Amino acid sequence: MIRYFVAIKKNYFDADAVKQIFKKIFAKTCNLLTEPWRHLNNQPRLSILMYHSIGSGAKMSISAEKFEDQMRSLSEGGCNVVTLGELLSQKAPLSKWTICITFDDGFADNYSIAFPILKKLGLRATFFICTGFVCGEHRISESFKNYANIEPMTWDEIRSLASAGMEIGAHTHSHPNLYEIDGLEQNVEIIKSKAILEEKISKPVHTFAIPFGGSGTYDNKTIGIVREHFRLCCTTHFSTNVYPTSKNFLILNRVEIYPADSLKIFKEKMFGKYDSLRFLQRKRKI
Ligand SMILES: [Zn+2]
Repeated sequence: MIRYFVAIKKNYFDADAVKQIFKKIFAKTCNLLTEPWRHLNNQPRLSILMYHSIGSGAKMSISAEKFEDQMRSLSEGGCNVVTLGELLSQKAPLSKWTICITFDDGFADNYSIAFPILKKLGLRATFFICTGFVCGEHRISESFKNYANIEPMTWDEIRSLASAGMEIGAHTHSHPNLYEIDGLEQNVEIIKSKAILEEKISKPVHTFAIPFGGSGTYDNKTIGIVREHFRLCCTTHFSTNVYPTSKNFLILNRVEIYPADSLKIFKEKMFGKYDSLRFLQRKRKI
């Protein structure tokens, strides 16, 4: 505990850093309190890692070195890493922990930096693409201030990912807050992105990630549309999942990895030790 007080004193003027330290204390305390229960609960679990930009230098981008260390720890640590598609076909070997890797939005660095690392280490991931960015109809900088100046992947790059065995998922056309638009507009956003992707990569698209993805960014209409057109849907609710053997693949939680996460925190997050952070997630302001 003393080291946390020292860290808070050192970062006193950095509000973000102090916030992160308090989050860490909260997660560690909850983890300690729930440890006995978790030992008793032996249900297999699924951890879906969530990334955005890798190595672009943007505020929320993970450095290429950190990303490679994290991926290497998966491939060399004997982790059961599968694709979302393997979950759907139930071909994923069942183990205590199953890990999936996902990227949202379709940033160019996913192809230029993350893809070669994944390929080198023999890992496969799912890339959720916002089609309006790739088509040039919407600009990334208009949607995210933390990722300004990042370009989207091109269709050739997305096709190249797909033909290398990576999975492509949909992420709407213009990245709206689906909760703020009516059912008809939601329908257009969701179906349009799926149709464009399927036409461009010549493969069916079964997976979807909700833009922003937390409370206040989707409603029952969204889930109804997604259920009709996809077989799996990811949110950004922070947590690992009970392994979905019941075939309920809608509203899956994910574990977001941050630029400041050490390899130790990465592993702790992946194995559910930060799941309590979900209770600190705020509803998106509308
Ligand atoms: Zn997104």
